[in-house]
Amino acid sequence: MYTYNNIVKDGNEVLRTKCEDVQIPLSHEDFEVLSKMNDYLADSYDDELCKKYGLRPGVGLAAPQVGVAKKMLVIMAYDEKGDFHHYVLVNPKIISTSVELTYLETGEGCLSVTKDYRGLIHRHKRVKVKTLVFDFESGDLVEKTLSFKGYIAVVFQHEYDHLIGKLFYDHINKDNPFYVPENSTPVVFSKD
Ligand code: ZN
Repeated sequence: MYTYNNIVKDGNEVLRTKCEDVQIPLSHEDFEVLSKMNDYLADSYDDELCKKYGLRPGVGLAAPQVGVAKKMLVIMAYDEKGDFHHYVLVNPKIISTSVELTYLETGEGCLSVTKDYRGLIHRHKRVKVKTLVFDFESGDLVEKTLSFKGYIAVVFQHEYDHLIGKLFYDHINKDNPFYVPENSTPVVFSKD
């Protein structure tokens, strides 16, 4: 299993590498990486396991964060309405983006970044993605076009950035970290 110690931290070159496409069918090694990434996020939702293994909770994980420069990522997150999303994606490609932007009022965090970077990251409010979707139950890898919006679009773009060697703080406006462009509105989480 991966613990927080296995998560590659900022400063390591692999986080600044453009990842390679994953060869299909999935190799045994790639499958193992993907399932351990998936387990890390699933375990991080469990308070007991977090305490026991010192896991830092996350809503997404990309392969370079475990030292593998290949296009694989996992998302496990509740959206702004409280609905759960779970995606295991291989070779994702953004095919269209909205002009409208969105951002998290709290800024973003990253399992690989221990330093505190303050500022807003404006991302596309909607993205359409062509990707292979892996299903652990059936073992199938199916090509799909997925549309993400709002919070999940933010999480996806954060993880996708890892596949092209970018980190969230690269997007913070250096002169005015809390600048909000006219076409950007915050993600609004429902209260209940
Ligand atoms: Zn990250």
